[in-house]
Amino acid sequence: MTHKNARCMITFARNKQHHTSKREDDTTKIYIMTDMEGISGILNFDEWVVPGGCYYERGKQFTTEQVNAAIEGFIMGGADEIDVIDGHGAGGIDISLLDPRVSYIRGANGPYPFALDKTYDGIAWIGQHAKAGTPYAHLAHTGSFDVAQYRINGISVGEYGTFVYLAAAFNVTPFFATGDVAFCAEARSLCPDIRTVSVKQGLDPETGENFTSAEYSRQGLGAKQIVPALACKRIKEVAREAAAALPSMQKSPIAPLSAPYELEIDLRTDAPGVYKKVSYKSPDSLVDLLNNSVK
Ligand SMILES: [Zn+2]
Repeated sequence: MTHKNARCMITFARNKQHHTSKREDDTTKIYIMTDMEGISGILNFDEWVVPGGCYYERGKQFTTEQVNAAIEGFIMGGADEIDVIDGHGAGGIDISLLDPRVSYIRGANGPYPFALDKTYDGIAWIGQHAKAGTPYAHLAHTGSFDVAQYRINGISVGEYGTFVYLAAAFNVTPFFATGDVAFCAEARSLCPDIRTVSVKQGLDPETGENFTSAEYSRQGLGAKQIVPALACKRIKEVAREAAAALPSMQKSPIAPLSAPYELEIDLRTDAPGVYKKVSYKSPDSLVDLLNNSVK
């Protein structure tokens, strides 16, 4: 969740060069985007993912442990270099607990593209949540509770989908993702070959279509979860398989969006079902488009 500083949304560099070859050497460099709401053990917004929440530090511990499990699996599967991007608005990683074999990135200018570039071979998401309006999702939202719909070039995306298209512009392959069952379905619907691990199942069928922001923030809080220790075990196993499969996945990357770029956002108002519509355009840069939307 990133409130105003809507993270998981994308923009783009000029994507004319997306068919250039991968890095010339044969090492594998991985970008890990992290968030908190899709972590096993995180139960709600107020207590777990915002500073001052009584379990916020515990939430960062669970997040970092599940990121570490993925790192362990990726290294076992052949990764040579890994960068961890803290994508949660208030910060979701406890750097004192983070595996020392990786680098930690936070505070990149833009903020898009969050330090993503063409030097990475694969991108993974740990603890990601589904997009706003997803039924049976746990803690679903897109950037903030105000957003009901978020479309890039007419395609409805959430924080994940935005980064999928950002990655496509840089020719970086989505290969692994963890979160709740609904998010994992969202992940596979855009990237059919991506490996996923679901750590919980949302219990609320409500889409929140006619909810105000305040009402939306209070729905989708119920979930059936596996415990963090089991989540870490499963994440490590599948992360290893995913990293081992990454070289072959790089042959069929996700097609990038074509310029010009347009972002349309439907924002909730105090009137149920009435949206304020805003839009942004960029003739040639997805990155610029996304950065314009969070200024
Ligand atoms: Zn988020």
